[in-house]
Amino acid sequence: MPMDLEEILAEVRIAFPELSKEKIEINYRKNPGDGPFTTQITICAPRTYIIEVFTELNAKPELIRGGIAHELAHIIRTHKKSELRIRTYDWLCENFPRLRRRDETEVDLEAARHGYGRQIIELRVYVGDYSREMVDKIMKEVAAIT
Ligand SMILES: [Zn+2]
Repeated sequence: MPMDLEEILAEVRIAFPELSKEKIEINYRKNPGDGPFTTQITICAPRTYIIEVFTELNAKPELIRGGIAHELAHIIRTHKKSELRIRTYDWLCENFPRLRRRDETEVDLEAARHGYGRQIIELRVYVGDYSREMVDKIMKEVAAIT
């Protein structure tokens, strides 16, 4: 494991008090090679979330914090929905890339509202997936809470 992911998760979770009762685990996976850094969540019945971190051994902790904050923001948006609504929405996102893109931006903004805007920008720049507009939106959230 590149660093103590459990410790980083515990630290980032403090900023997401609405998830304090959720069961969230974290796993390190060797990067399968489709990018320098990715995270994903798997939802296991009954409502256990596993954040999987695929990363290089020397990834900066700030990037990992950004990735975890992003996944926790996904959980915020799903933890109160029914299983059926989650599946329907996932299906829509998989089949409509524009919807997915909008959803991912909303998730980033949610993470920014929880204090992780700068890490999210750092992560997006690192993976090469950002636009000026997206950075501006996130910086507005950063400014609103500081
Ligand atoms: Zn996402």
